[in-house]
Order: sequence, then structure tokens, then C-alpha cells
Amino acid sequence: MMNVPLNIATMLERAERFFPKKQVISRMKNGLVRHTYQEIGERTRKLASALRTLGVNTGDRVGTFAWNHHRHLEAYFAIPGIGAVLHTINIRLSPQHIAYIINHANDRVLLIDDDLLPIIERVQDEINVEAFIIMTDDPMLPETTLAPVYHYEELLQQAEPISFVKDLDEHHPAGMCYTSATTGNPKGVLYSHRGIVLHSMALGLADSAALSESDVALPVVPMFHANAWGLPFAAVWFGTTLVMPGAAFTPKILAELMEQEKVTLAAGVPTVWLGLLNELEKGLYDLRSVTRILCGGSAAPKGMIRAFEEKYGIPFVHAYGMTETSPLVVLSRLKSYQQHVSNEEKLDIRAKQGFLVPGVEMKVIGKDGEVAWDGTEMGELCLRGPWIADEYYNDERSKDAFRDGWLYTGDVVTVDEEGFIKIVDRTKDVIKSGGEWISSVDLENALMAHEAVFEAAVVAVPHPQWQERPIACVVVKEGKSVTKEELYDFLRPQFAKWWLPDEIVFMNEIPKTSVGKFLKMKLREQLRDYFTNVQ
Ligand code: AMP
Repeated sequence: MMNVPLNIATMLERAERFFPKKQVISRMKNGLVRHTYQEIGERTRKLASALRTLGVNTGDRVGTFAWNHHRHLEAYFAIPGIGAVLHTINIRLSPQHIAYIINHANDRVLLIDDDLLPIIERVQDEINVEAFIIMTDDPMLPETTLAPVYHYEELLQQAEPISFVKDLDEHHPAGMCYTSATTGNPKGVLYSHRGIVLHSMALGLADSAALSESDVALPVVPMFHANAWGLPFAAVWFGTTLVMPGAAFTPKILAELMEQEKVTLAAGVPTVWLGLLNELEKGLYDLRSVTRILCGGSAAPKGMIRAFEEKYGIPFVHAYGMTETSPLVVLSRLKSYQQHVSNEEKLDIRAKQGFLVPGVEMKVIGKDGEVAWDGTEMGELCLRGPWIADEYYNDERSKDAFRDGWLYTGDVVTVDEEGFIKIVDRTKDVIKSGGEWISSVDLENALMAHEAVFEAAVVAVPHPQWQERPIACVVVKEGKSVTKEELYDFLRPQFAKWWLPDEIVFMNEIPKTSVGKFLKMKLREQLRDYFTNVQ
């Protein structure tokens, strides 16, 4: 067989050549804008040329700080298209973490949405970036303290389109994305051209997301989180119509977009779909075009799957993945011979995370080696495959997660007789709220740095809207006193607002294991019904 390196540029070339009329529709400040793949191709080649003129070379990192829209899509292809590395920066991270990852990745240029400028301005003294490109619909650059700044559209106007670099080793890095750690700074994951191309192919398989040319795909999942689950890459390759929701959308906006653009596939975290369900209650929308909603990032509650399917006739597919796994690795679809079971049983099976998509392998390691596939024995899920990272970028923490050729996911699962995995716990001490991570350890350390706090444990409690929210349990030092408000005032300057615990509970002592570690399982049990009780 020919040894042709897999390369992202060929994906856009295919769209330009075979689907020049197909569209990318973006929700921007002044309404929807439409670009054909021919236009996207031309604009991407101009952006590639502009980046070259700014001095970006093979292997250099270029950061993006942006919502889901056509310009971000152009960056997705222009940056790897010149052999550079697309570093998608999560806009929800704390300023300290944003500065850290820009420095750690060594981003030479940043592409920033105009409305997100203030966040980067806050860290400008801590970073060393050579050029800032502002993505804006306005003809004028907004006022900013950043320098030097360039206007995205002006750069494109001045640039001559260029050809992409395709003679790269397929293992050459094309993208990178940082994922939150249990504590401390985020960890970087590098994606190769090869990994992205193979992962995109997996998104097109009939038994996985079955993404195809005839789809109208709406990635609600942000392009700054695990590459919007790889959908932008695959959609362009397949000539799929893309609908990009832009900044600060609401369930109403999503419902309208889905109806108006006749979306067939939408992808996002459970919080997004819970919001949409509430909106659909109004009975105002016709979403018959939707053939599946892809839901992952956190567990999809069975009741939500039921409501979408039984009430609104919208098929709902539960999927699982991680930043480290590109991300799609597991998807919950019934097998042909599982169709005869009762509706309730079907829902029980489909509420599990599912089984492996072709191309990746798993093993589940319990305390006595690999667990039995009996649906009860628990173990840590380990994965390997061509779109799974084999280390964190320049990070000593790699050795904890990557061992003997496997990624240890930190997710504790059971596997049933049919190979469906069900996540039952996490070994990593983190909280996932609305699809984004909160470090319990960082909150605990911050609380314990308060002079009146003896010890503090922060645990995840199930929440109807955000899936999980943090609750802090605090023991006050003898002879000292502190109020909840004082503790919140103490935490506020140190963390993003959405990281703050929903409640601070004062306790006489925190339950501990025999070796003195917090018994978080017990605490979680004690607090499990917290949000049901306070409603
Ligand atoms: P991230 O790298 O931010 O995408 O987070 C990946 C982690 O999210 C996984 O290791 C799981 O802990 C969690 N996760 C992803 N998908 C699911 C799911 N369908 N159900 C439960 N947890 C999930």
C-alpha cells in the first residue's frame, strides 16, 4: 500500500473540491452569516498566508480564544495547514491558568474574539505573545491595551491565498488542548494530523455518530473543549453543513437555530440538553429534522433520554470521551439483537456510556487485575488507540496517567456482558459542572489557607441543571470563628465565579479513612440529596 501521510489539509481540500456550495452558517453579533465551503477554503488559505507573513513557522503554536463560528473554523484548518499547531484555549479557565497555558504552549500568536478581549488583557503582562489577531464583525478594531493587534478581516483582505503544506510526517502535531488536572495547572494534549484524520473517520461510521454529507451539524460543544468533539474537522471533510452557535447562546436561541436551519445532529453536554428540554416545554418548536442528539462530557440522565425520545421523538445518543482521547471512544447504541427488550430496559442500557467505537481498545483494571464483564465488578477504564494521546505535553504528570502503553482514564466503570461500560465513580478528585472542571483540591487548599479553617473537604453533589456542583465542608479551628460570607469573600478573588461552592457546610469533623484521608464517598452520601432538599 502507498505510505501516504494523513494530513488535515486534505480534508478542507475535499470540501472545496466536492462541496463548494455547501454552507457554514454562523450566528454572529448581527445575525446569521453564511459562507460556502468555497469561500471558507479561500479565506482559510488567506489566513494561512497572513500567519506566514506574521512569521509563524512549522511547529509554532498559535492560540485561539473564541466561540464556535466560521472564523474559528478557518483557524482550525489554516494553522495546521501551514504545519503550525492550533492551540484552542478554554475561555472558562481562571486567568492564572489561561496565562499558564499560553506560556506553557509558547503561543506566538493569539486569535481572539472581540468580546473576549478583556480576559486576555487581564493577563497580558504575564504572557509573551508576538501578535494578537482580533476576530470581529466591526470594520474597526476595538480599543485594547494589547499590542501589536491586527484586524482579522483586514489581514485576509491583504493576503494572497496559499497552498497548504502536505508533505508533513503524519505524526506531526496539528492541535493541542489543555485539560484540567486534579490540582495545579492544566495538562496539555497534542493531537497529530494522523490522530485527527482517523478520529474524524470514526465520527462518520454508521454505528458511531454516522456523520455524513447529508447532515446539518450543530456543535454546541465549544471548539475550545476537545475540538468540539472533532466535529468541525469531520464535518468539513464530509461536506456536512455546519451550524455554529456563536457567543452566549440560550436554549431559546438553540431551539430556533435547530428549527430554522433544519439541524439533523447536535452535540453537547447534558446541561445544554436539559436547558433545551425546558425550552421545548413551551411547545413552540418543530424539531422533526433532528435525527440524533449526541450527548457526552457528563452522564446523560435516563429521564432526559426518555423525555427527548418519548415526548419529542428526538433520538438521543449517549457518548463518552476525554480531551486525551480526541475525544470520541465510547458510544451507547443498542445492538441489533437487543431491540426486543422492554423500553425500560432499552433506556437502562442506553443510559450507560456504551461500548468502544472501532479503532480503540480497552481494558478495565480492578484490584485483582482485569474485571469480569458482569456489570458489577468495578475497575479503572484504560484505553489505547491511534487517536489517544500517549503523554501530556512537557509534563511530568504524564507518568501517572500513561503506563505500559495505556491511558489510565481515572474513570471507574463496570462492564456488562455485552461490553457496555457504565461509569460509577472517578479516581480523580474533580467536579464536572456544566461540562467544565472544578478542582476540589484547589478549593480545599484555598479554604485551608484561611486562618480560621482547620480542615476543608470539597465534594461533588448531583445537581439538576449542572450535573454536579461543589459543596465545601469546613471544620473551624478551636477558639476561632468565621462566617460563610467571610469564607466566600476569601475565595472570590482566587477563583472564577462558577468555581465557588454552592454551599459551605460547617462540621465538627470530616469523616476520614483509617489512614487519615478524607472519606469523600461518605461525605457525598451525606450531601447527596442536598439540592433536592433545598428546592
Ligand atoms: P474532558 O477531558 O474535559 O472532556 O473530560 C473527560 C471526562 O469527563 C471523562 O474522563 C469522564 O470523567 C467525564 N465524562 C465524559 N463523558 C462522560 C459521560 N458520558 N458520562 C460520564 N462522565 C463522562
